[in-house]
Amino acid sequence: MDYFTEGHSYADDIISVLQLFFPNSVYTRLDAPSENCVVSRLGDDGIYTCLILNGVRAAENRIAADSKTDIKRELKLSLYKTLMSRFPRELPWGALTGVRPAKLASSLIKTEGSRQAAADALKNIYFVRDDKVRLALEVSENEEKALEKCIPDSVGLYIGIPFCPTRCLYCSFTSYPLEKYRSRTDAYLDCLKREIELCGYNLRGVPIESVYIGGGTPTALDEKQLYRLLTYISGSFDINCEFTVEAGRPDTLTEEKLRIIKSFGIDRISINPQTLNDKTLRLIGRQHTSSDFFRAFETARRMNIGHINCDVILGLPGEGEDEVVHTFDGLKSLAPESLTVHTLAVKRASRLRETLEEYSLADFGLMDSLLALSRRYAGEMGLIPYYMYRQKNMVGNFENVSYCLPGHECIYNIRIMEENQTIIAMGCGGSTKIVDRNTDRIERIFNVKSVDDYIARTDEMLDRKIKGLNWRKETDSYAE
Ligand code: SF4
Repeated sequence: MDYFTEGHSYADDIISVLQLFFPNSVYTRLDAPSENCVVSRLGDDGIYTCLILNGVRAAENRIAADSKTDIKRELKLSLYKTLMSRFPRELPWGALTGVRPAKLASSLIKTEGSRQAAADALKNIYFVRDDKVRLALEVSENEEKALEKCIPDSVGLYIGIPFCPTRCLYCSFTSYPLEKYRSRTDAYLDCLKREIELCGYNLRGVPIESVYIGGGTPTALDEKQLYRLLTYISGSFDINCEFTVEAGRPDTLTEEKLRIIKSFGIDRISINPQTLNDKTLRLIGRQHTSSDFFRAFETARRMNIGHINCDVILGLPGEGEDEVVHTFDGLKSLAPESLTVHTLAVKRASRLRETLEEYSLADFGLMDSLLALSRRYAGEMGLIPYYMYRQKNMVGNFENVSYCLPGHECIYNIRIMEENQTIIAMGCGGSTKIVDRNTDRIERIFNVKSVDDYIARTDEMLDRKIKGLNWRKETDSYAE
């Protein structure tokens, strides 16, 4: 879909609304209106939006604006109304395009003065469906409660291990197949050690609130390497906090690795089946079976891991209600402390995107009912929703939700979404966010994504890190 803007510079926001109506399209900015396009104009008389089809104005909308108008919001709403009048459809999150609906709910509770007023605003201004209004408010409240135990002036740490046994069909993360990269894993750890030590040195005295080792699949490292990694981290930081290790692929987890994890005081791991249907597991390119998952989970329990999270994905190719019921029945029998329910997203960098025509994916109605099913199961398992985010290109434009037993909220997950804490990311693909709490400005430092580049350019990564950490000190982002 082509678009033309005039009088404002909110092109990205215009595209975010176009994505609701024309997902997976190409959005081209025009220098002048054409026969088929959207026009978004801000002038002295307010906001004007028009949909032109075959040279004819098919729909239009005008909104008066003055100095108090939230221009960005009204431009988006004007476009939403224009497109909805010509292409009516059910959008569960209405005109909301951001990744963090619960953050908006929290801010509306403050600005509107009550939970009911926030609910009314979500429904009447943004056209959010009733069940999603309730979900956003519930997540926002549970998040707020969890943040009561957060540590002031602290930072979070992320360490990336970018290796996996194979690449999943839908993956868009920094992940490299272990077989091909095995000879470079030790060199990678050597470079990562330098970055961990540099950050540890520069963050002396700063309280660490959470540590998250993700990837990739950190437990794809062998026992010796995992031990090395955890030794580097515990030797560089004073850690007495929430500490998570992703053990995403159940077939990478051994009793010895769990023993090592436990010996470093780590009590939260994530073992992710995604589905408990072996046919689907083969289809999506995961090398393990559902039996591998049950075995890994039971071993982790036997080793007294106190908090096990499980990730599942709804809408995997070929899966309907029966398959999802089978997955949730299996998970319910294990009683994990938390459950993260993703809806399938067709990401640009994934194999799924390249081979999309080979698969039949869930439609809107099926995805809606699968999400309702997941909520029901979470409730039966005693889990509450505490963290939620949305992504581009999600099937049905829905959401990802994490549920947990009350008191088992993962603070790291909440902080990442709230963007109110400095998070130092180490390793390839790491994206550090330094939050200046005085101005809310966020300085981002990106590490390279390729393992080979990370190994070859470690000095450059360290230079970038030092500059970012110095900026943190200059802005006095948090007390030391
Ligand atoms: S386990 Fe995760 S990181 Fe690894 S390939 Fe699959 S989706 Fe990507």
